[in-house]
Amino acid sequence: MDSFNTSAAARIRFVLVGTQHPGNIGAAARALKTMGLAQLVLVQPEKYPHDEAYRRAAGADDLLADAVVTDDVAAAVADCRLVLGCTARSRRVQLEEHSPRQAAARLAQVAGEGPVALLFGRERTGLTNEELQLCHAAVHIDANPDYSSLNLAAAVQVLAYETRLALKDTAPVAVPAADDAGEPRVAPATHAQLEGMFAQLAETLDQIDFHKGRAPESAMRKLRRLFLRTDLDEKEVRLLRGILADTQRMARLAQDGGVNKIVGS
Ligand code: SAH
Repeated sequence: MDSFNTSAAARIRFVLVGTQHPGNIGAAARALKTMGLAQLVLVQPEKYPHDEAYRRAAGADDLLADAVVTDDVAAAVADCRLVLGCTARSRRVQLEEHSPRQAAARLAQVAGEGPVALLFGRERTGLTNEELQLCHAAVHIDANPDYSSLNLAAAVQVLAYETRLALKDTAPVAVPAADDAGEPRVAPATHAQLEGMFAQLAETLDQIDFHKGRAPESAMRKLRRLFLRTDLDEKEVRLLRGILADTQRMARLAQDGGVNKIVGS
């Protein structure tokens, strides 16, 4: 049976970040359309709209016409419940790394519950470390170690093909109403919810003087990786933020108390 999970397909977003050559945007649109995918998002494309994009789209103009353009990655993926970043440089980032097949299986599954995104970097320089840090995991297409950088649209094609296969394997499976422990199923946290938690965590660590003069970035990088790896759901994020809010309150009280003591003595 040739089933294709069209509702999940509609929630899978291919995000091209800072694309330099408009031709690659057109070729990426074509790659997506051939695989039955349609969600194209462009983050600060260098030249767009552009004739070359339409020429290379070869009939996938509808995808280009519908493409959403945003100013930054955060805006492109705010509502996404899974964000993966494609990188030609294997193991340079401290992120869990997926093959295209693993990535596609995960995207197809989470797309059952909400929008998901796959990021692609600039032709010359790829994704920045900051952009990769926004991702749950990296995706690397196994390639010649001495020549591992595919053309952008070729990389899109590989991922789009694997995504198509994964969507055929996941013919609309209803998301279970309860988890293994019988608790009602809660959707995975969105990118914006996670970033809100990370901002509060960074603030809290400052308030409790956790870093003690060390650079805060290193601890935050590790903590982000820890939390992004664990697939937090919305309720878990609320619980953690509640703990952070109490910690912040106690830190303020301690500080006020400390100040009063000093003033009073
Ligand atoms: N010179 C850049 C390569 C950019 S290629 C660099 O060193 O990062 C443009 C984009 O295509 C990359 O940012 C990545 O998203 C994707 N890409 C190219 N080759 C890839 C590979 N082997 N695995 C995963 N993504 C790849």
